[in-house]
Amino acid sequence: MTRPNRHILAGGAFALAFAFATPLPATAQIPSPEDFFGHQMGADRELAHWDQLVEYYELIDAASDRVQVVHMGPSTLGEPFLSIFVSAPENLARLDDFKRMNAVLQDPRGHTQAEIDDAIAGGKVVFVQSYALHSNEVAASQSAAEITYLFATRDDDEIHEILDNTISILIPAFNPDGVGIVNEWYDRWVGTEYEGASQPGLYHHYIGHDNNRDAFMQNTVESRYGADIMFREWIPQAYIDHHQMGPFTARIYLPPYAEPIRPGGDPLVWREMSWYGAHMAYRMEEIGFEGTVNAAIYSGWGHFGFHWITPFHNIAGMLTESASARFATPLYVHPDQLQGSRQLPEYEAQTTFPNPWPGGWWRVRDIVDRQIVATFSPLEIAAQNRETVLRNAYLKSSRQIQRGMEDDVKAYVIPADQHDPLSMTTMVNKLLLQGITVERAPADFTHEGRVYGEGSYVVSLAQPKRGVIRWLLGQTYYPDNSYTRNASGDPIRPYDMSADVIAEFMGVRVDPVGTAIKAPLTVVSGQIEPAGVVADAAPNGYLLDGTLNAAFKAVNMLFAAAASVQRVTEAGEGTSPGDFIVEAGADMEALAEIAAATGVDFAPLEWDPSTISQPITQQRIGMYQRYYGGNMDEGWTRWLLEDFEFEYTSLFDPDILAGDLHERWDVIILPADSRQMMLGPIQGAGGPRGPDPAGTPPDYRSGFGEEGVAALDAFVKNGGTLVTFAQAGDLVLEGFDVPVRNAVAGMWGNEFWAPGSTLKVDVDTSSPFGYGMPDRALAAYLAGGQVYETLPGARSSDVRRVVTYIDRDILQSGWLLGEEAIANKAAMVSVDHGDGTIVMIGFRAQHRAQTHGTFKLLFNALVARGGERPRA
Ligand SMILES: [Zn+2]
Repeated sequence: MTRPNRHILAGGAFALAFAFATPLPATAQIPSPEDFFGHQMGADRELAHWDQLVEYYELIDAASDRVQVVHMGPSTLGEPFLSIFVSAPENLARLDDFKRMNAVLQDPRGHTQAEIDDAIAGGKVVFVQSYALHSNEVAASQSAAEITYLFATRDDDEIHEILDNTISILIPAFNPDGVGIVNEWYDRWVGTEYEGASQPGLYHHYIGHDNNRDAFMQNTVESRYGADIMFREWIPQAYIDHHQMGPFTARIYLPPYAEPIRPGGDPLVWREMSWYGAHMAYRMEEIGFEGTVNAAIYSGWGHFGFHWITPFHNIAGMLTESASARFATPLYVHPDQLQGSRQLPEYEAQTTFPNPWPGGWWRVRDIVDRQIVATFSPLEIAAQNRETVLRNAYLKSSRQIQRGMEDDVKAYVIPADQHDPLSMTTMVNKLLLQGITVERAPADFTHEGRVYGEGSYVVSLAQPKRGVIRWLLGQTYYPDNSYTRNASGDPIRPYDMSADVIAEFMGVRVDPVGTAIKAPLTVVSGQIEPAGVVADAAPNGYLLDGTLNAAFKAVNMLFAAAASVQRVTEAGEGTSPGDFIVEAGADMEALAEIAAATGVDFAPLEWDPSTISQPITQQRIGMYQRYYGGNMDEGWTRWLLEDFEFEYTSLFDPDILAGDLHERWDVIILPADSRQMMLGPIQGAGGPRGPDPAGTPPDYRSGFGEEGVAALDAFVKNGGTLVTFAQAGDLVLEGFDVPVRNAVAGMWGNEFWAPGSTLKVDVDTSSPFGYGMPDRALAAYLAGGQVYETLPGARSSDVRRVVTYIDRDILQSGWLLGEEAIANKAAMVSVDHGDGTIVMIGFRAQHRAQTHGTFKLLFNALVARGGERPRA
């Protein structure tokens, strides 16, 4: 049989699919995207910019009674962050009513059966879809404009059924800054030999591609806007995040996810994903779009970005992934380049992939076409089945409450007595941002034989968000079964972390309890903002508790206020090593402001502490930053430093290569990165290794080479402190003469495996780098991390083991194979080197600004003891 011409088939099908797009007379003044932007959305080498897109959305809002644009606030870099509400005009006029009915179904606690029945009978399906979270996946920001236009102007039966029965909330760009950064960069080089080059830095100012790893911590303002909509204000019945993937497998991945899934959600959410996904794929096949796959590539156990955390909020949280072109440049794909993926073992027809794409030209418009169908098709069945979807929303939430009452674990108690109580408060605030009900004990109580102090918190599982609570607070084991191992028995890497236990990341003790708590409790109604207290009289100065992360923020604010600060180095009466002391007579008004902003108490010292403390001065901190798309660990660390008000400078290659670094910096941080990305292309026996500069504009090629390594070596020998994270340690291990090796170098699979797991460690709290830490802590270990062994020889005494993996049962949460490879070995060392110190942190002590439990291991390295560097 002769294969029909693919282009004609797709074009003909399109005319059919979009025959409904005839504008209504009333909306005739809305220009089509083509008229407004001067090109079709997704035209080759054409990308509309964010400011133009915002103007277009405003124009549609003004002209259409079906579309309401909401400015949620500024993005990280000050661009407008929009949400767009779309429904029938009479529904938009009653949004508050529908929000109230939706809230009844999503959390039926305290509502009568009549209220529930009314909400099912009278409510609308709430459906959120977001675009352009990942800015180098350029199609979605363009698709969203055409989709909004179609919502406003279509006049067929299907769109009226959708508008009458559903409320769509579109997030047209989840990272508006990145649409600007990437699209403007692309335009700058289009038509040159550098067309399609990656932008030099991160496309989210702080966190780049990791912006979909932030839904549970909400460190960025963009995540908080998303959470406002999805976790608290609306809690939709379904959510889809539209992405792009690599160019060489299916043309589009649609729900449901592949195996394994994370259990604990209501089963209906997984069935809903299959239901929506089947209809989306059905429509794709009707139109004739080849290369559509379901239930493959993306496993259901993922990180806690929005589309993977929403199932545990009882939302059918879904993903679409279209194959990428080269930004807006067409890409030619040869048949032999096409390959299978997870649960698509061969690039051949199978039930979830009946119509493989044969290869050929692939364009941004191909993606836009698919994203339009992927947006409207699930709304068709949601609208047709409005009552069923709403009744099942009630079923999901009420069953989760029931399960919470019957589970072995009935609640998690967060005791008031914590190593760092302010980090506990921060964690409770994060839970509240998820819309989780948290209660507080107004008085001491005893439960299951334990005494809990006033101010302890209780999180009952008998609530709709039971699933989220379980994964954020409960110990978690990643499955080890045939879905997570290949045919040879080797483990298959999880999509991201194998566990996301916020309590473990934050170093907060949480007790699971098997019986419901009877003590009186009060519901926490809003974010908790603890205010520290400054003692009235403190003739010997004030003491700040060094176990508090927030104490470091207070110290940085004290430096800014020109106050004198000391650090306790020996235990004294009421003091521990690592505590901070502020001199008597400091400006009371400044102290009061700092205490209020940080929650840290300024306690009076009863005696003169000068014999057990040393003055500290503000350190000059530099952190290396490279090009080639930027380094997310660098961005997260930058975010963290700013959050705790550390002053720092970003160091680029010329800064490093200028030499004499010790004259300008006290501490230099090398974020987790491969040695090759830091050094730049390396000429080796097998040809050049590392980044490829050929496709990169000359001013944006980075790498400080061996000359930079020598400059960093000299920096330490001259008294500087160099901090390395994870694989950045290779720069020291290979480039400096130090008596340390990476004990897990080259180990893989069954030999040693800890993909995004929390591991138990002991901390030497007598080391200045371990000050303020608990003796036993949890380290977040990711692939690429390092574990340190000291080499025998005269210099072995220069090495101090600051953090050490315990000797057995090292796994707290996640997945660990081959624990004997790391048992009793160092997770973090300090190494004396010349007059300076290298601090090597082999795990992610500051991972994604989430691991509050180990922030102090970094912070200590940034707070030197004035005039004297830390010594064993
Ligand atoms: Zn993506």
